[in-house]
Amino acid sequence: MYDVINPATEKLFKTIEHLDLAGTDAVIAKAEMAFDSWRHVAPGDRGKMLRRFAEVVAEHKEELAQLEIANSGHTRGNALWEVDNVVNVLTYYSAAPERLFGRQIPVPGGIDVTFKEPLGVIGVIVPWNFPMPIAGWGFAPALAAGNTVVLKPAEYTPLTAMKLGELALIAGIPEGVFNVLPGKGSVIGARFVTHPAVRKVVFTGSTEVGKSIMAGCADQVKRVTLELGGKSSNIIFADADIAKAAATAPGSVFDNAGQDCCARSRILIQKSAFDKFMEHFEVAVKKFRVEDPSLATADMGPLISKKQFDSVQTFLDEPVAFTGSAPSGDGYWMAPTVLLPKNTQARSWREEVFGPVVSVMTFEDEAEAIAMANDSEYGLSGSIWTRDVGRALRVSRAIETGNLSVNSHSSVRFWTPFGGFKQSGLGRELGPDALDSFTEVKNVFISND
Ligand code: NAP
Ligand code: MG
Repeated sequence: MYDVINPATEKLFKTIEHLDLAGTDAVIAKAEMAFDSWRHVAPGDRGKMLRRFAEVVAEHKEELAQLEIANSGHTRGNALWEVDNVVNVLTYYSAAPERLFGRQIPVPGGIDVTFKEPLGVIGVIVPWNFPMPIAGWGFAPALAAGNTVVLKPAEYTPLTAMKLGELALIAGIPEGVFNVLPGKGSVIGARFVTHPAVRKVVFTGSTEVGKSIMAGCADQVKRVTLELGGKSSNIIFADADIAKAAATAPGSVFDNAGQDCCARSRILIQKSAFDKFMEHFEVAVKKFRVEDPSLATADMGPLISKKQFDSVQTFLDEPVAFTGSAPSGDGYWMAPTVLLPKNTQARSWREEVFGPVVSVMTFEDEAEAIAMANDSEYGLSGSIWTRDVGRALRVSRAIETGNLSVNSHSSVRFWTPFGGFKQSGLGRELGPDALDSFTEVKNVFISND
């Protein structure tokens, strides 16, 4: 049995049962059985079932959002957006079964065609920071391509995933096709890696665990997609709309209490605009509302756990420019904090904090900004603020990162690709090409004879 805690109150929210190894194997066997019939469901029918699944999720929007608020401390605004994201991703990929096109390639003596075949059972391992969206980014395209899914939510945040598993059955997705397995990463997640029936692992989480999963998958040449950490830069040139850049910077790093792999946790501001930026930025940080996440006005809730809170505190030994505010008392609350590290070797400048902490440093010119941004083992996200179109293009092409936004901070849209350079990950999720990560290309030559 496992106690799920509400991070805003530290009170017990629910007690759930964890699956053990034998239970995990039993579910994987069920998913393996279900694969043979699911893959042969007519494309139009599979699409219809996924649309029905999306509708049923939408009908349970308030219930799912309430679960996420209480289980994960997500703000009401975010939790509602997250349910919508699952609905949208399911709807988007519901069009895929009828569009899993192969090619016809000219050859002498016959015809040559390619097919996109499903892989089999897909293991999806989900972290606690965005339990619903990250689950959906894995299971929706996997199911659409004809695979069955075993999904392990994080120990801290299993409740919405478990509910989605129930809703799939209500929507008519056949038994065994989409399975949610609450429990430990070291037991269930590790079993996805070693079980021969699981043909691919989709992992989102820490770079450390991601590397061990990749190494483990090598043994069976198992397919793997990794979405790992980040240390993304928010690069602001002096010619930018400084007031707007400053007003939007808090949301770009403190959203979800900074527990976001895309958090712009490094602000690079051109030296000549530093004073003006910091003046506006301080106002914006102090306005950022950290409060009971169930309130519609909340910008930020608590951190997920005592462990995460303690880990974030270890970054606070660098000079503090200013902080916002946070409630006191029970709950893992922390005020948004702005640091001024002395140099680029500072821990807060180099390591993923995964909390509401941002570090600010200055640069002289474009070349220095690019060099500073690229001086990281990570490369997931980032933003560029400038009014100069040429500079926006040059810097976008020069930054070694998978997702950039210019004069904005959006990086995740379900219909565009998402993923990391360098140690931020391997492969891409979302967008039109994600189906390729859930299928194998089969080439067939048919002779004229
Ligand atoms: P984590 O250990 O990487 O956990 C992510 C998922 O992997 C969880 O479901 C976890 O299960 C599972 N897992 C853990 N060990 C496993 C193993 N040996 N084999 C298979 N699956 C395993 O991340 P964390 O410990 O929760 O967080 C640590 C740090 O990782 C954070 O501070 C942050 O820097 C980073 N992080 C990044 C992301 C991201 O979106 N890129 C997300 C979360 C965390 P359990 O819940 O049972 O541990
Ligand atoms: Mg861990």
